[in-house]
Amino acid sequence: MNEIKGGCLCGSVRYETARAPLMSAVCHCIHCQKQSGSAFSTNVVVPSAGFEIASSTLGTFNDVGESGAGVKRHFCRKCGSPVYTELDANPDVVAIKAGTLDDPSWVQPQVHMWRCSAKSWGQVSEGAVCFDRNPPA
Ligand SMILES: [Zn+2]
Ligand SMILES: [Zn+2]
Repeated sequence: MNEIKGGCLCGSVRYETARAPLMSAVCHCIHCQKQSGSAFSTNVVVPSAGFEIASSTLGTFNDVGESGAGVKRHFCRKCGSPVYTELDANPDVVAIKAGTLDDPSWVQPQVHMWRCSAKSWGQVSEGAVCFDRNPPA
């Protein structure tokens, strides 16, 4: 894979990066459930350096993580799609919502986090590395 590209439902928010993804992870936390409207959020973590966003409709919800650190949840103000998240605790990376990728076929989440709040209808794949809450730093 040479380049990661994607965007929101209406196409007003577009992003790309030429950097290789660092990991893919499924988050079962309550905040991701609320924001995604689903049982979990699947995220592809990429370096923030080289991550380029093009949009005039980008909105930000300033959330707070369990640690008390800020979590900036970016979404499209036109169509409402959650697109990516920045973590004050780790400014070197951004977490892209995997469902917004133009080609998500290669995504294979290695990690499941916040299993303590996982829903029975949000399956955790067998053999996955699981953490009850956030992975240790
Ligand atoms: Zn949109
Ligand atoms: Zn989460």
